[in-house]
Parts: sequence; C-alpha cells; structure tokens
Amino acid sequence: MARRPMMAANWKMNKLIEEARDYVEQLLPRIEGARGVDVAIFAPFTCLPEVVRRTQDAPVVAGAQNFYHEDSGAFTGEVSAPMLRDAGAVTVIVGHSERREIFGETDETVAHKAARAVSAGLLPVVCVGETKEERDAGSMWDKVSGQVRAVFEQLDAGQIGGEALVFAYEPIWAIGTGETATPEDAQDAIGRIRALLGELGGEGFAGEVRILYGGSIKPGNVDDIMAQEDVDGGLVGGASLEAESFAELVNAAAKHG
Ligand code: PEP
Repeated sequence: MARRPMMAANWKMNKLIEEARDYVEQLLPRIEGARGVDVAIFAPFTCLPEVVRRTQDAPVVAGAQNFYHEDSGAFTGEVSAPMLRDAGAVTVIVGHSERREIFGETDETVAHKAARAVSAGLLPVVCVGETKEERDAGSMWDKVSGQVRAVFEQLDAGQIGGEALVFAYEPIWAIGTGETATPEDAQDAIGRIRALLGELGGEGFAGEVRILYGGSIKPGNVDDIMAQEDVDGGLVGGASLEAESFAELVNAAAKHG
C-alpha cells in the first residue's frame, strides 16, 4: 500500500516568535517542488499561532509537541486538544521520549493522549523507542511492543482507519546524540511495529499507518533511511532547527513518495 511520506520538524523548546516567522519564510521557497510529502512543524505553544498564520496557504501543517488529555478544568499549566485545534494545530506529538523520561509520562498516559488526539481530530505522532540499556539487554522489542500495545488498547481501531495516527520509532540512544540507527535497524524495528499493528488491527489498518524513524536524521543519512520499505518518513530534532537543512530532508523524502 502506498503511504504518503511525512517529514516532521520537532523544534522542542527552541525559537522565539520572530525566529519562527523567519524560518517559515526561508523554508517555503525551498520546498516548493516537494508536493508529494506531508510536512509538519511541531512548534512550541508560543510560536504555534505564528506558524499556523505563516503556513496557511502552504503545504505545511502546524502541530504542538504535547497536550493534556482532559478538555478543560483545574490542570494548571496544561493545554488541551480543543485548545490546540482552536489555535490551528492539526497534529501533535504524543509520548516523545523527553516527555516520558524527563516528565514521567507513562505508557498509560501516552495512550490516553493518543486516543484523545484522534477523537479530537488531531493527528497524533506517537513516539516509541528503547534506551541504550534496554537495547544492550536484548529487551528492545519488549519495550517497544509494550508501548505500541498500550496505545492500541485505547484506540477504537474498528472505528478509525490507520491514517488517523502516525507512530515514530525513536531509539532514545539516537536522539540528539549524532548516533543513528542503521537503516537496517530502523527497518527491522519499524517492520516489526507494522507486523504487530497487523496482528492487533488487521492488515488493512497496519498498511495505512505511517511509521516514521527519528534519531539524528540529517541530510547525509536521510536517503538510506527513507529507502527502507516500512519507513514512511522522519521526525527530526536537531537538523530541523535550520530551514535549509530541514528543506533538504523534505526534498529527500519527496523522492520516496
Ligand atoms: C527528536 O527529538 O524527535 C529527534 C529525533 O531529535 P534528533 O533528530 O535531534 O535526534
């Protein structure tokens, strides 16, 4: 099944509003030819309205990096799915390893967020991945499959198509370290995630779910990663912070559409 490639910029806690504006201005002319790829910018909350405004007539969507699964109430410091929709977001990262490792998000909270994003009409990009210790101990698949199963249990897969969510396989040891999984390791993990989704939700569902790789993607390695059969795109931190290098990644992904 042909899945549309996706290239996503995760700015993390970077950029002021003016920097966000300049970035989008520099990015758009550089990706004019890349019509076959979905491009997303996951901006900090404060930059989100600016990214929404600047990408209104462009084939780029704006997203947030987190939200809380309740819609409103006494949750000081949190932002809800309806609030993100109201601000113009169409997608949101869920369960990034930095949320899990630094802010204590569990498989259960991540699964609630993924389900709420889907029901609110936001496209969740659900991150899963193992630590170096887990990989070395041979428990990579226990960890990753547990994370995927937890999310699946909260979804009503009979009611949604596989295009309603995206997974990102992000080995934690490869995030922001310059160390990338080999293209074969990325394919192996992502192929196994797709096979698991097939067991859980059926082949049709699994064939529609896009699964990205994340972990030190850069212009020098993106082609080999995108060439893998089950890899549908990338979630990019460091190399997405400059419009020029992110544009190179988008244009590379477009070749694999
Ligand atoms: C990320 O933050 O999701 C990520 C993959 O970061 P980097 O590209 O810097 O490894």
